[in-house]
Amino acid sequence: MTEKNFGSPLSPLTENLVLGLPVHCLDDYSGYLLSRLEAGVGTYVVTLNAEMVMQSQKNSLLAKMICQADLVIPDGAGVVLYLRLKGKSIQRCPGIELAESLLWQAPKQNPDNLVFFYGGSPGVAMKAAETWQEKVPLLSIASQHGYLSSAEEKELLQTLAQLQPRLIFVALGVPRQELWIAENKHICPQAIWIGIGGSFDIWTGVKERAPAWFCNNSLEWLYRLYQEPWRWRRMLAVPKFAWKTLMDINS
Ligand code: UDP
Repeated sequence: MTEKNFGSPLSPLTENLVLGLPVHCLDDYSGYLLSRLEAGVGTYVVTLNAEMVMQSQKNSLLAKMICQADLVIPDGAGVVLYLRLKGKSIQRCPGIELAESLLWQAPKQNPDNLVFFYGGSPGVAMKAAETWQEKVPLLSIASQHGYLSSAEEKELLQTLAQLQPRLIFVALGVPRQELWIAENKHICPQAIWIGIGGSFDIWTGVKERAPAWFCNNSLEWLYRLYQEPWRWRRMLAVPKFAWKTLMDINS
């Protein structure tokens, strides 16, 4: 069931299970997060897709972290298709689009809220921050690339503790970003933390997002395979997910 009205930002959300992992169905994910942001309620967001579901079948720590998230959004077409076949009314919410929506809306709510971009190759997070600051001049964004030594990472944690950003986007790839957030989210207890994979690469033009036709036809993964053929082994998770979920539906 889709929750049209989530009531208070602290109301518990209904969980739908995809091979044992939770997914929350809302009409307005960014509205929900903005209301939590306004209330200063820390929120750990996971953007679930078929690859992550399959990884978490082998990585119990990743599965545990996903189960502990405050909000799990249906990022992948496979997850949405499975839930629809189970009779749920659910709209896909790609993590990159949720992040974009928050970047447009959060500064209107409170321009003092600092945003932090962490991850990506040196220079990419900074360029992504500059790009967004040009688009939304009210935004304040600090950034840090994702290839740090352990000493530099400690420094980053101190910086986060000091700055207390309210929106923290982490682009370290799955499962690193999910585990890193789960380990460190206590440092900024009022922040929204989201693992956003390759979004900085897309915002800066390092990578290209699949054209709308691929996204609308649940084939974003195929375009990604065409763009990054070396990911083929990792992408085998997609047919494996399809098989497992079909078995589950027919059982
Ligand atoms: N990355 C990083 N540090 C690392 C490993 C990866 O900052 O130690 C970045 C990498 O530069 C890329 C992002 O993490 O920008 C992962 O993007 P990908 O599209 O692979 O994300 P996924 O498909 O795992 O969500």
